[in-house]
Amino acid sequence: MEIAANNVVTMHYTLRDPDGEVLDSSEGREPLAYLHGHGNIIPGLEKQLEGKSAGESLEAHVPSAEAYGEHNPQRVVQASRSQFPQDVELKPGMRFQAETQQGPQVAVVTGIEGDTVTVDTNHPLAGVDLKFAVDVVDVREATPQELEHGHVHEGGEEQE
Ligand code: ZN
Repeated sequence: MEIAANNVVTMHYTLRDPDGEVLDSSEGREPLAYLHGHGNIIPGLEKQLEGKSAGESLEAHVPSAEAYGEHNPQRVVQASRSQFPQDVELKPGMRFQAETQQGPQVAVVTGIEGDTVTVDTNHPLAGVDLKFAVDVVDVREATPQELEHGHVHEGGEEQE
């Protein structure tokens, strides 16, 4: 069976940045299963998996625009030191959960100057081109319940 909309794809993958550094991998874990055509994974990877079958391997180069988006300078914001807990020592590189208009988001402190803290609320991989090495393990039809929910259930049925 070929990968197409409404199929469940199981795959092993390794994700690298343009320098070849491994950012994420399913190696040593259960393979990743997702429902194709439902936005479960980044669009650029989904597009390149289309038409592949179990047993196939591919190298997918996904530009940032089709991955986690471009780095948006408007999402680098200045906050006041008083907006952070007093007992926390702020350092560049520190990650925390921020409440934004788009809901909770991981943010990173990129600078501290006096009472002003610069915070980047872009996705950590925004602006990064990604390279995936993928081994397609299995392709099957989704169950009606999976299609209704828009995600994969282990074994095809909702657990709990
Ligand atoms: Zn479900």
